[in-house]
Amino acid sequence: MAKHHVIVGGGPAATNAVETIRQFDTQSTITLVSDEPAHSRMALPYWISGQIPREHVLTGDEDYFRRLQVQCRVPARATRLDAQAKQLTLDSGETLSFDTLLIATGSSPVGLPIPGVDLAGVQPLWTLDHTQAVLQYVEQNQLQQPRVVFIGAGFIGFIVLGAMFKRGWKLTVVEREPHVLPRMLDAPAAQMVQSWLHSRGVEVHCGTSVQEIRQGQGTTKQVVLEGGTQLEADVVIVATGVKPNVDWLDGSGLEIDQGILIDDHCRTSAADIYAAGDVAQGPVLFSQQKEIHAIQPTAVDHGRVAGANMAGQDVSYPGSLAMNVVDICGLQAASFGRWDAPEATTINNPSRHIYRKLCYEGDRLVGAIFLGQASDLGMLNDVGMVKGILQTQTPLGPWKQFLQENPFDIRRVFVACQVADKLCRFRLIGRPAQPRGYRYQGGQPTATPGPGHASYVQTKAQQGGS
Ligand SMILES: Cc1cc2nc3c(=O)[nH]c(=O)nc-3n(C[C@H](O)[C@H](O)[C@H](O)COP(=O)(O)OP(=O)(O)OC[C@H]3O[C@@H](n4cnc5c(N)ncnc54)[C@H](O)[C@@H]3O)c2cc1C
Repeated sequence: MAKHHVIVGGGPAATNAVETIRQFDTQSTITLVSDEPAHSRMALPYWISGQIPREHVLTGDEDYFRRLQVQCRVPARATRLDAQAKQLTLDSGETLSFDTLLIATGSSPVGLPIPGVDLAGVQPLWTLDHTQAVLQYVEQNQLQQPRVVFIGAGFIGFIVLGAMFKRGWKLTVVEREPHVLPRMLDAPAAQMVQSWLHSRGVEVHCGTSVQEIRQGQGTTKQVVLEGGTQLEADVVIVATGVKPNVDWLDGSGLEIDQGILIDDHCRTSAADIYAAGDVAQGPVLFSQQKEIHAIQPTAVDHGRVAGANMAGQDVSYPGSLAMNVVDICGLQAASFGRWDAPEATTINNPSRHIYRKLCYEGDRLVGAIFLGQASDLGMLNDVGMVKGILQTQTPLGPWKQFLQENPFDIRRVFVACQVADKLCRFRLIGRPAQPRGYRYQGGQPTATPGPGHASYVQTKAQQGGS
């Protein structure tokens, strides 16, 4: 029976849900409500660094939504939900009735309640508009090498930092916690990152907070730290974290903790209403607690699982893996799962900026931290293999002791425990993942792999698009 599926949001959770619904259900009506054009925030840093234009951040256009038979309300905001009557109200006053609803409204920066946050050149960096604003500010003021102070040294802040580093901007980081990346790295790994940043000319101040931002001459601002230290900046990026966009759901009756609580089918507490991505607090690997994992892979997985279930399938989700991978001005950092679990093997080589921590519970790996340089291909492969071992929750049996004694020989454990086989067999929604249905202006991949890479992979273009 044809239904009306309504999806609120235009990020990866929403677009993956749309494509998944259409894989199973070509008859129903889909309406998408979003206050921003469909895009991937993850691509914003490439725009900042000058590697791509704004259009390449977009993940859908008119033609794409027409092909998928999606009725778009963009830009439009959902302002109220009546879960019992199954009605959604938009900011235009329009009401939409639905059979199933997906809430994929993502998260927003939390802001910082200090004087000076309203000055020109002081802003968060989370949306298309934020990105446009910072690039325009730098261009209009003809700043060749702007001085940028980051307030907050978390995962997303560091991704943006890396993009600005590529442009040669002059960077300083202020973090209230005792070390950078406090929710991604332990103290020894973070110390190594700080020494790396120092060697790259990035100034770091930890264990202190910003009290005030004062306007100086021209674009100059003084960022005043606890204790009186003053840092000069043209641009200040407020990167103090995000919170799920749930305010508009006041009075809806949905069960909300930090985010909207969802079960292993991405169902909320209300019948036929689903939630996905940054706004959802759901099942995770290696814990019984529901958590928000505000990362792209979780948004994509949630979107696919919710989409399949909205289209009448019965798909359950094993849970998301906490996962942060970031290039810190040339130093690669990755952390997964419960990287703070007490039983761990650690390798710490500060002089070469190599850090590796593998955490266990029983005979399973439950978390990991890696630091190393991109030129160390072995390290990058190991990161991928450890992620696979974690995602498949593979019992290591006797290979646990081997790994504890040989933490650089992950490949042998990966092969012996047949992790690749498990990964290949795994189907999140019961069928293989499809390539995304959108390419900018219908383009095809043009990159050819380098000689070292070519013996292992072929691009889709070389395979004749198969
Ligand atoms: C600069 C940057 C870099 C990042 N890099 C990475 C990375 O390298 N790796 C990684 O894993 N993650 C990264 N992330 C995080 C990742 O982008 C998010 O986890 C992901 O976008 C979440 O997807 P989503 O669909 O849940 O929400 P979003 O992508 O936030 O999309 C939600 C959409 O809904 C809209 N919306 C909100 N409320 C309403 C409403 N009431 N009515 C209508 N529309 C509404 C929002 O405006 C937004 O467009 C990055 C984020 C940023 C900002």
